[in-house]
Amino acid sequence: MINKKCLLLIVFLLVLLFAVGCSSSAESEGEGVSPDKAEASPEEESTTETSDANKGGNIPDGFRVTTIGTGSPPIEGGKTWPATLVQYQDKNFIVDCGGGCTHGLAKTGIHPREVSNLLFTHHHVDHNSDFITALIAGWATSNPRTELNLLGTEGTKKKFYDFVIDFYKDDIEYRIKTGYTKADGMTENVNVQDLSGGEEFEIDGVKISTTPVPHSIETIAYKFEAGGQTVVLSGDLKYDEAFIDFTKDADLLVMDGMLAEVKEGDSFYEEFQNIKPQLSSAHLTLEEIGKIAAKADVKQVVLNHLMNGEIDADLTSEIIKEQGYEGKVIVSETLGEYEVEQ
Ligand SMILES: [Zn+2]
Ligand SMILES: [Zn+2]
Repeated sequence: MINKKCLLLIVFLLVLLFAVGCSSSAESEGEGVSPDKAEASPEEESTTETSDANKGGNIPDGFRVTTIGTGSPPIEGGKTWPATLVQYQDKNFIVDCGGGCTHGLAKTGIHPREVSNLLFTHHHVDHNSDFITALIAGWATSNPRTELNLLGTEGTKKKFYDFVIDFYKDDIEYRIKTGYTKADGMTENVNVQDLSGGEEFEIDGVKISTTPVPHSIETIAYKFEAGGQTVVLSGDLKYDEAFIDFTKDADLLVMDGMLAEVKEGDSFYEEFQNIKPQLSSAHLTLEEIGKIAAKADVKQVVLNHLMNGEIDADLTSEIIKEQGYEGKVIVSETLGEYEVEQ
C-alpha cells in the first residue's frame, strides 16, 4: 500500500516537473516574439525608421501655414522666436528659424530631415538663431536630409552658411566618417543664395517670389503660389505701397504683428504702451496693417511676431477693420495651423 502511494507520488512529481518545464520553455520563446520587447532585425529596424522618418505630419490638400514661433526678442515662456512652416501638400518650407524653431517643428510631426528648404526674411537674430540646430538636426540623423536650399538676404551665403560650415568643420567631418550621414545636404548638394528682393523661382513645384520691404536692415517678403492659392509672409516691415501690389489678392497673409494690442491689465501692458513708438520705427502699426490688408484685398491676415503678454484680439481686430478691411484677422498661436480657405 505504501509502495503504491510512493509510486503515485513519484508519477505526480514527474508530471508536475514536465508541466513546469514546458511552461518555462514556452515563456522564454514568448519573450522573443513580444512586440514590446522584440529586438528588430536590421531589416525590420530600417523599415521602422523609414516609416517614422517619413510620417510628415498630416498632409494638407493645398497650402497650410503653421506659426511655430510667434514671439519677439523679449521672450516669455510660450512664445518662441519667429519661425513659420509653409506646407504645400507634401512639400515643406521653413521661413525664418528663430530660437525654438527646430524643436517646435518636431512638435508639428515633421522632423527637420523632412525640410530641405530654409528661407530667411532677414538676419536679425530672432529670425535665424536656431539655424544651426535645424541644419544639424535634419542631417546628423537616420535617413538624413540629402539636399538643402538655403535662401535669404545678403550675408546668407558668405557670412552665415560658410561661417557655420567652417566653424563646425571637424564636427561635420567626424559625423561623415562614422558613416551615419553623408556630405549631401550639408556641404554637397546644397544651393545657397543671397536674395535682395524681386526674384522669382520655383522649388518643389511651388512658385516663390520675393520683394524688398523697409525695416531696419535689408529684409524681404516671400510669396508662395501653387494650385491657384497664394500665401504671403511679410517678414518685419514698415509701411510700403509696393508691398500692397506684391500682396494683392493673397488668400493668406502672415503679417508682422508686433504692435498687436496687449490686454489692459496684463503685467506687460504699461511697458508695451511705452515702447510703442520705438517698435513702430521698424514695424507696422495696426492702422497700417489694416490699410495694407484692405487695399490688397487679402482674404485672411494672420498676425505673428507678437510682443509679450496676452494679446487683445478683439481690440487688435477692431483697429485693423477700422481701416476698411473686411476679411478675417487672426492672432497667431504657437503651433497654430492656418489653411487657405477654399
Ligand atoms: Zn527684424
Ligand atoms: Zn523680428
